[in-house]
Amino acid sequence: NRPFDVDTIRRDFPSLDQHIHSQPLVYLDSAATSQKPRAVIESISQYYSGANANVHRGSHSLTASATNRFEAARQTVADFLNAPVEGIVWTRGATEALNLIAQTYARQNLQPGDEIIVTEMEHHANIVPWQIVAEQTGANVVKWPVNPETCQLELAELDNLLTSRTRMLCIAHISNVTGTRNPVEAVIEKAHLAGAIVVVDGAQAVVHENVDVTTMNADFYVFSGHKLFAPAGIGALYGRPSLLETMPPWHGGGKMVEKVSFSGTQYAESPAKFEAGTPNVAGAISLGEAIHWLANIDHKGAEAHIAALQNQLVEGIQNIEDLRIIGLQHGASVVAFTVDGVHHSDIATLLDQQGIAVRSGHHCAHPLMDALGINGCVRISIALYNTEDDISRCVAAIQKACDLL
Ligand code: PMP
Repeated sequence: NRPFDVDTIRRDFPSLDQHIHSQPLVYLDSAATSQKPRAVIESISQYYSGANANVHRGSHSLTASATNRFEAARQTVADFLNAPVEGIVWTRGATEALNLIAQTYARQNLQPGDEIIVTEMEHHANIVPWQIVAEQTGANVVKWPVNPETCQLELAELDNLLTSRTRMLCIAHISNVTGTRNPVEAVIEKAHLAGAIVVVDGAQAVVHENVDVTTMNADFYVFSGHKLFAPAGIGALYGRPSLLETMPPWHGGGKMVEKVSFSGTQYAESPAKFEAGTPNVAGAISLGEAIHWLANIDHKGAEAHIAALQNQLVEGIQNIEDLRIIGLQHGASVVAFTVDGVHHSDIATLLDQQGIAVRSGHHCAHPLMDALGINGCVRISIALYNTEDDISRCVAAIQKACDLL
C-alpha cells in the first residue's frame, strides 16, 4: 500500500466535488452514511450495463457469472471479518440483521423470565428488536447503564448484571454518538462464562477497526454496507455457523428451500435458509468492491489522519463559550456537542448554509440522550476523505453560529 494521501483519496470521490449553497461541500456526516468511491459507483453501473441476471436460478451464462460474483463477494466479506464463509448471511443492513437474529435465534431460544442485556448507548436498531422479541417470549430486556461522565461502559457493572437467566448480550462495537470503542473481547469472555451469547453491532466499527470475529469470539456480528463506502440496501450478518444451523428461517420464499410441497417444506442449509427472495446482487458485488478498495489503502495512515483531524476539531471548538463536548473519546472519528441555550438543529442549519453537512438530533439513541440529560446534540463525523481545511471551515462556522444564536 502507498502511504496515505488525502488528495489522492479525494479524487476517488466525485460527490465531494460539489457546492451546497454556493460553498464547496464539507461532508462531516460519514457516520450517517459515507460517500462512495468511483470504483463502487462504477461496479454498480457495470453490473447493470452488462452482467445483470438473477442468481442461483437457471443455467444460462449470465446467471452463472452473476452467481459467481455474488458468492465471491460473500467470500470477500468473510475474509474481511476473518469469518468462515458459511457464517455470512446477506441482509439489507445492520437493522435487518439484528431483527433476523431476534426473530430466529432469540425467538426460538428465549423463555419467560430470561434476560437480554442491552447497553444504554445502543442505536435503536440494537434495542427495539430485543424489546419486540422480549414481548413475544416473556423475556426481559436489562439495561447496562453507561457512565454519563465518560460515556463508557464499566466492565465491573457487567458482573452485577449477568445472572443465571442471562441468555444474550447486545453491544455496539463503536457508539454512533460518541465514538466510544467498547471492549467487546472482554465483554464476550464474561458473557460466555455466564452462558450468554453476544451480538455485536459493528455498524460504526467496520470502517475503522480491523474486525476479526474469530479472535473476538463473537456469536453474531452485523454491519451495513453504506457506512463502508458501499451502497445502501446491502449489509451482512456474521453468525457462528453452529448457531445458524440450529436457527429457524425468518422470511419464507424462493431460494431458502430444498423442496416445497403442501404436505411440508424442507428448508435449504444456511446461509441460503436466511436469504429468501431475489437478493441485492449489485449491492453485494459493490460491497465486495468497497472492501477491495479499502484494502488498497494504508489503514494505519487513514486512522492517524482521522485522529489528527478529530484533535484539530476538538482544539478548535473546546473553548467556544457554552459549548459542551459530549463524552469525548480521543482518537475517535466523531465529536458530539451541545451549546447551552441553543437548539442543536439551529446549529446544523446554520452550518448547512455554509456548505457544511453535519447531523443533529438524537442519533437514534434516545436512551443515551436520556442518560446524558440532553434532548439531542450536534454530531460531527470524520472520514478518511476529510481535510484540515474541512475542519477549519467547520470550526469557524460553529464559532459564527454560536455568536449569532
Ligand atoms: N447501529 C449503529 C451503531 C448505527 O450507527 C446504525 C446506523 N446509524 C445502525 C445500527 C443501523 O444501521 P442501518 O440503518 O444501516 O441498518
